[in-house]
Amino acid sequence: MCGIVGYIGNNDSKEILLKGLEKLEYRGYDSAGIALRNERGIHVFKEKGRIADLRGIVDEDVMANIGIGHTRWATHGVPSKVNSHPHQSTSGRFTLVHNGVIENYDLLKREFLTDVTFVSETDTEVIVQMIELFVQEGLEVLEAFRKTLTLLHGSYALALLDAQDDETIYVAKNKSPLLVGLGDDFNVVASDAMAMIQVTNQYLELMDKEIVIVKKNDVTIQNLNGDIISRVPFTAELDASDIEKGTYPHYMLKEIDEQPLVMRKIIQTYQNEQGELTINPEIISAMNESDRVYIIAAGTSYHAGLVGKQFIEGIAKLPVEVHIASEFVYNMPLLTEKPLFIFISQSGETADSRAVLVKVKEMGYRTLTITNVPGSTLSREAEYTLLLHAGPEIAVASSKAYTAQLAVLAILAEVTAKSQNIRVDFDLVHELGIIANAMEVLCDSKELFEHISREFLSVTRNAFFIGRGVDYYVCLEGALKLKEISYIQAEGFAGGELKHGTIALIEEGTPIIALATQESVNLSIRGNVKEVVARGANPCIISMKGLNMDEDSFVIPEVHELLTPLISVIPMQLIAYYAALHRDCDVDKPRNLAKSVTVE
Ligand code: GLU
Repeated sequence: MCGIVGYIGNNDSKEILLKGLEKLEYRGYDSAGIALRNERGIHVFKEKGRIADLRGIVDEDVMANIGIGHTRWATHGVPSKVNSHPHQSTSGRFTLVHNGVIENYDLLKREFLTDVTFVSETDTEVIVQMIELFVQEGLEVLEAFRKTLTLLHGSYALALLDAQDDETIYVAKNKSPLLVGLGDDFNVVASDAMAMIQVTNQYLELMDKEIVIVKKNDVTIQNLNGDIISRVPFTAELDASDIEKGTYPHYMLKEIDEQPLVMRKIIQTYQNEQGELTINPEIISAMNESDRVYIIAAGTSYHAGLVGKQFIEGIAKLPVEVHIASEFVYNMPLLTEKPLFIFISQSGETADSRAVLVKVKEMGYRTLTITNVPGSTLSREAEYTLLLHAGPEIAVASSKAYTAQLAVLAILAEVTAKSQNIRVDFDLVHELGIIANAMEVLCDSKELFEHISREFLSVTRNAFFIGRGVDYYVCLEGALKLKEISYIQAEGFAGGELKHGTIALIEEGTPIIALATQESVNLSIRGNVKEVVARGANPCIISMKGLNMDEDSFVIPEVHELLTPLISVIPMQLIAYYAALHRDCDVDKPRNLAKSVTVE
C-alpha cells in the first residue's frame, strides 16, 4: 500500500524519484509528492491524483542530488494536496514522508504540540512537528528522531530530510516495509526493490524499530538504543524487464497471459532430478506433526486458501480451517493442540496477516508463509517459506498469483500425502502440465470472453456468480475480480444458498454466471440456474468438457476435477477485465485499492 523512495548521490534525483514512484504505482495510492534538497533549500512538490499529475507541477529547473518521494493511500484526512506528503515542520527545517498509521497521534498532539498550528489532517504531520520540537529543546537531530520514534504507536516507514544537513536521509521503519539500496557513490531508499531495481540490485533489509542514517557513501543501521547493527546486503533477483508492460495495454492482461508460463515454472522449480515434486522436508515434517492446518489470508489469497483446504484435506487427509486474517487476530477460535499456521500473501506484506503471525509466534506455534516475494516481511518472520515464482505481479487485481498459490498448495498437499504413504490417484506433475496447456487455450479465447462480457455485463449494475463445491470458491474470486476492477456490484454464492434470501434481488436481465465443473453437483447447479432463470435472470454457464450442455456459454477443457479452479478462474479474470475495459475503468489501478495492504 503506497510507497516511499529516496536518493542521495551525485546525480539529479528528480527523475530517479519520479521513476521510482511510478514503479510503486501498482501498490495503490491517491496522491504523490517529492521533496528535493539543494543548496537553496528544500523544494516540495505534491499533488492529489497520479504521478503524471505530479510530473506536471515539478519544476524542471530545480536540480538536487538528495530527495525523497511518496505515494499516499490516505488513512487520516481526505486525499488532497495539503494532506499529501512530504509534510514539513512549522519552521520548514524538517521534511518527512511516512507510510503507515500512527495510532496515538491525537494523544501526542495534545501532550506535546498544543502550540503548533497544523496544516494537514494527517497523523504524519505530528511526527515531523515532534522532531522539530525536540530539536528546538536542544536535542541533536538523530536524538530527536529517536526520541520521537520511541513515542510512536503504530506502523511507519519514514524518510526525513533536514534543511541544515546536505549529507543525510534519516530512515526508520516499524511494521511498514522499507529497504535501503546500495550503489556506487549513491544510496537509495525504497518500499520495495522494484522501485529502484533500475539503479541497484543490492539491498539492506531493515528490521522493525531500526533507524538508518543514509549518506552518499555510507549507511549506518542502529537500534533504538543507538547500538550499531551490521547487516549483509542481499541481491534482489528481479529482472527489470519483468516489470515492463511490453506491448500489453494493461499489466493485468499480461499477467493473465503469463499463467501457463508460471505453471511450468512452478512444476520445474518444485521438481527434483527424478522428476518428483519435492518440498523442504522440514516443511513436510511440520505438516505431518500438526493435527490441523490453519490457513490465514485476506482477499484473493483467502479465496486461494479455501481451495487449498480442498487440496490438503482431499489429497493429504489433514484437516484444515481457513480464516480471514483481520477477523482471526481479534477473534481467535479454539485451536487444536498442534496447529500449523499457513499464511498466504502475494506481497508477503499484508498487515492483517502479519498481525496474526506475530501473535501465533508469541504463542509458540509453527508457521509457514506462501508468498510471491522472497525477503518480504511475512517470509522473513515465518519459520518457513514457499515461494510462488510467479514473477512480479503489478496489476492491483491479482491473477497469476492466485493460480500460483493454488499450484503450490496442491504440491504441498501431494508431497505431504506421499510422505505419509497416502495414495494419490493422479500424477500431479502430469496434471499441472495439462492445466498449463488448458490455460493457454483459455488465454487464446479472449475474443469470446470479451463477447460474453459485452453480452452479460455491459449495462448491468449487479451480477451474481454461483457454483457448488470448489466452483463456489472460484465464484467468490470471480465476483471479487469483477467488483475490484469494473465496480459492478457482484457476489459469489453457493448455488443452493441463493434461494435462502438473495434470490429476492433477481430481476429481469440480472446476469448470473454459473460454474459447472464438478460432476457430482452438475445437475444441482443447473437446477439452481433454472430457479433464477424462472425469475428473469440472464444466465451465462461456464462448464467443463464432458459436463457441458447445449445452453452453456463457454466450455473449458477437461482437467482433473479437483484442480479445476486453476483454470475455471481464467474466464472469470478475463470477463472482469473486459467488463472494466468496456466501462472505461482504470484496470491496473482501480479506485480506492492498494496492491499490498500494509495497514491493518
Ligand atoms: N497515515 C498517513 C496519511 O494518511 C500515511 C498514509 C500512507 O501510508 O500513505 O497521510
